[in-house]
Amino acid sequence: MDLVAARERLSQVPDPEIPAVTLMDLGIVRDLRATDAGLEVVLTPTYSGCPATELIADDVRAALAGFGAVTITLQRVPAWSTDWISAAGRVKLQHYGIVPPQCRAEQSIRVVPRLRCPRCDSGATQQLSRFGSTACKSTWRCIDCGEPFEYFKPF
Ligand SMILES: [Zn+2]
Repeated sequence: MDLVAARERLSQVPDPEIPAVTLMDLGIVRDLRATDAGLEVVLTPTYSGCPATELIADDVRAALAGFGAVTITLQRVPAWSTDWISAAGRVKLQHYGIVPPQCRAEQSIRVVPRLRCPRCDSGATQQLSRFGSTACKSTWRCIDCGEPFEYFKPF
């Protein structure tokens, strides 16, 4: 079993809700290991309310076609945290117009996050809606340049 090749394939699977980032970027893929029959992929879905888990499992199976039987294991403890998003993933989210979540240490200091506009970096932003395109995100707008953007809520 070529785990390196399998990992390479797996690293290219985009998130079904935010195709700009991969499952690996988001930290959803926790482990990849060889089994007697093929591969086992351990996934921790981002939010239990997001209906993307089945899609993600299908995408992972499709990406690993040819590597034998693929077992998907959902690991919900510990729960997924925005802290697991990689540095590369945070940069991609920023380019995509979604403000990457602040780390937990910052959150504990600032109760209400002061978000900066992903386009002009202005700190004059307002929350338009607590929910964006999915329950995982809230919708914001920059007062200076008018750019709407989404914030990936810390969890
Ligand atoms: Zn702006």
